[in-house]
Amino acid sequence: MLTNDQLAQWDRENFFHPSTHLAQHARGETPTRVITGGSGVYIEDRDGKKMLDGFAGLYCVNVGYGRSEIADAIAAQAKELAYYHAYVGHGTEASIKLSKMVLERAPENMSKVYFGLGGSDANETNIKLVWYYNNVLGRPEKKKIISRWRGYHGSGLMTGSLTGLELFHKKFDLPLAQVIHTEAPYYYRRPDLAQSEEDFVAYCVSELEALIEREGADTIAAFIGEPVLGTGGIVPPPAGYWKAIQSVLKKHDILLIADEVVTGFGRLGSMMGTTHYGIEADIITIAKGLTSAYAPLSGSIVSDGVWKVLEQGTDELGPIGHGWTYSAHPIGAAAGVANLELIDTLGLVGNAKEIGAYFNKALQDALGGHANVGDVRGEGLLAAVEFVADKDGRTFFDPAKKVGPSIATALLGEGVIARAMPQGDILGFAPPLCLTREEADAIVGATVKAVESVLGA
Ligand code: PMP
Repeated sequence: MLTNDQLAQWDRENFFHPSTHLAQHARGETPTRVITGGSGVYIEDRDGKKMLDGFAGLYCVNVGYGRSEIADAIAAQAKELAYYHAYVGHGTEASIKLSKMVLERAPENMSKVYFGLGGSDANETNIKLVWYYNNVLGRPEKKKIISRWRGYHGSGLMTGSLTGLELFHKKFDLPLAQVIHTEAPYYYRRPDLAQSEEDFVAYCVSELEALIEREGADTIAAFIGEPVLGTGGIVPPPAGYWKAIQSVLKKHDILLIADEVVTGFGRLGSMMGTTHYGIEADIITIAKGLTSAYAPLSGSIVSDGVWKVLEQGTDELGPIGHGWTYSAHPIGAAAGVANLELIDTLGLVGNAKEIGAYFNKALQDALGGHANVGDVRGEGLLAAVEFVADKDGRTFFDPAKKVGPSIATALLGEGVIARAMPQGDILGFAPPLCLTREEADAIVGATVKAVESVLGA
């Protein structure tokens, strides 16, 4: 068997890791972590260290690790038929069944689902569909896409542009010219502390209106947003935000793309984030929770209104010029069917609601009073703790101090994984939806210890 040192050396020499400090890692300054197994909410590394995964991988292993129902479905599909494409009307029983299951869980106005591989490619598909839509409707100028600062929609050329985090733009020549950004619905970081939630929503609306006015509504095709901002800091929207934003979009005939890559299939304690907040989307992006990451699969769910225009386009032009070799891959589809069935049988949406409320309150009770905890927020089984140098002024720590990452490292020392979010000192939690009260208590207890070890009691 290979030693850990040997693996670490091969890793440094050969493996280009995503989202990693390449130079430090190649120099051996950051560890190689080899994960070997998982069960329920726990994962294990090569040294036999067991860790409670409070981030479900990258908020994706929603049913938890080691589910043999999904593994068996994948194996059965691989043996029967590992691959066939989905072009020109082809499919498999699994992909057709999954499309029906997805539509049954989506809002009523949704019509069809296109399957891709991950969240980034699904959002790339969405933008192409929106452009096609406006061209078919004879509006070739209506193409710009509005996204929010701190939104996360992937790291492709278009999706990295939509993502509103600087790290994803700098030195990549992004964002592309067709993308424009507006205010994030981040009440804790509102520009004027005197603003009530209601005033802040009015401010977000006025910023959006001003942007549309400046650019011209007839140049703007769509607005994309996550029901709850995820990678940008785990920020639930202020009350009334979506209703207010949606009425502006309707007024200007701008489509709404709801990016439910994180919120889809139970994370907020509702099946979908769109229904949770009463969002009426034209297109919905799904990925992660669709298969609980047992196999790569994503989807673009389009509304009746969008679908009719796409049909009209193919009547004019012929088959839609869009598709991947691996669209609706049978193994992903088999994983998706078994995963959605498991979410129902285990009652995980209800569990996310109940344990999510318990977990969020426990975090608030345990940490809300700490001198350096500015905000504790969350919805369902999504939660974040934001650290500040000074609570009253909401001032940031010097980024060089790496307060967020240090707390995440200390927490790992306590056997719990949380994520230091990429912008600001924010510790994020998104555990598997099967979390129990005892496991929630264990996360909170370890987090208190980690925070106190870095910032004092
Ligand atoms: N949209 C959202 C809301 C996401 O959180 C992510 C991934 N974290 C993506 C899109 C991109 O998905 P992927 O990494 O699978 O390409």
